[in-house]
Amino acid sequence: MDAKVEKSVGGEAPLIDPFARRVSYLRVSVTDRCDFRCVYCMAEDMTFLPKADVLSLEELDRLCSAFVRLGVRKLRLTGGEPLVRRNIMSLIRGFGRHLDSGALDELTVTTNGSQLPRLAGDLYDAGVRRINVSLDTLDADKFLAITRWGKLEKVMAGLAAAREAGLAVKINAVALKDINIEEFDRIIAWCGEEGFDLTIIEVMPMGDVGEQRIDQYYPLSMVRARLQESWTLDDSDLNTGGPARYVTVRETGRKIGFITPMTHNFCESCNRVRLTCTGTLFMCLGQEDAADLRTPLRASADDAHLDAAIREAITRKPKGHDFIIDRRRDGATVSRHMSATGG
Ligand code: SAM
Repeated sequence: MDAKVEKSVGGEAPLIDPFARRVSYLRVSVTDRCDFRCVYCMAEDMTFLPKADVLSLEELDRLCSAFVRLGVRKLRLTGGEPLVRRNIMSLIRGFGRHLDSGALDELTVTTNGSQLPRLAGDLYDAGVRRINVSLDTLDADKFLAITRWGKLEKVMAGLAAAREAGLAVKINAVALKDINIEEFDRIIAWCGEEGFDLTIIEVMPMGDVGEQRIDQYYPLSMVRARLQESWTLDDSDLNTGGPARYVTVRETGRKIGFITPMTHNFCESCNRVRLTCTGTLFMCLGQEDAADLRTPLRASADDAHLDAAIREAITRKPKGHDFIIDRRRDGATVSRHMSATGG
C-alpha cells in the first residue's frame, strides 16, 4: 500500500468509509450564487441562502484545511459560481500553502468561465493548473437560452485568458434533449482544435428548476452511439475515481468523459465528499443524508470537535445513490439544487 494511503501528510489516520473507500477528494461549493441561471440548474427567481448562514472565507479555509490534514489530496472549488464570491482569490491563494507543503496534490476550480478574463492569471499564480469550464453550446443564441443571463463571447474571452495563463481546460457540457445533442460533433471538433478535453454530463434530477426533467433528459448511451458514426472512440482505462468513463477520440487525440449517473452505477470507486458553503457535508451527491460541520467549526477554535464530526460523517458515506427520472415523480429525486451542493 502507498504510504500516502496509510497516513495523511499530517500523520493522521486517513478517512476510510465503511466500504473501504478512501475519501481523498473534497469538492467545495464556496457560494450558492451565480451570474448565470442555467435552465437545468436553477429557477430564474432562485432564492439564495441568507448570508449569515454562509461560512466566511476564513471558516472555509479552516474547514477545508482540516480535510487536508485528514488526508484529502484534491480540492475542487465549485458553486454556484465560485469566481463571483467576493475575495475568492484570497481563499484560493491561501490553499496554495497546502500545495507547497505537499499535503495537497491538486487544487482545481469548476467555473462557468465568465470571470476568467479577470482571474485566469491569478488562478495560475495561486497554483491552479487545471480548470473545468461549463459550456453546453457554441451557438450564442442557444447559450443565452440555456444560461438565461450568460454571454458566450465573455466565456470565449475567458477561455482565451485561461490558455494565455497556462491553465489546462476541460469543457463540461450537459446533454440536453432537443437543445444541444446535434451539436456534439461540432463541440468535439472545436475541443480538438483548442486542445480541450470534454466531459458530457447527463441531466441529474436535482432541485426544482421549474421544468420537467423528463423533457431535458437524453441518455448518454444514445449520445455516444451518435458520436460513433463520425468519430473513432477508443476506450480509455483512465479512472479518476469519479463518475466519468473516458474514451480517446482517435481523430483529435483528446479525451471525452461520459458522466452517466442514470445509466451506470459508478459508486464503487467513489473517493469524494461535497461541502456546501454553509458547512454541510454531503457524503453522496445523490442522497439526502448530510452532516453539519458548521456547528463544531463554530463551537470551538480547537479542531478536535471538527475532526471528530468529519470522521463520524465518513462512517455514514452510503454505498451509492439511486437517482430516478420518471413521469411519476415531480422531477427532483434530490430536493437541493446542484448550485448548493456543487456540481
Ligand atoms: N458555476 C460553475 C459552472 O458553471 O461550472 C460551477 C457550478 S455548476 C453547478 C457545476 C456543473 O454542474 C456544471 O457543469 C453544470 O452544467 C452542472 N449541472 C448543474 N445542474 C445540473 C444538473 N441538474 N444535471 C447535470 N449537471 C448539472
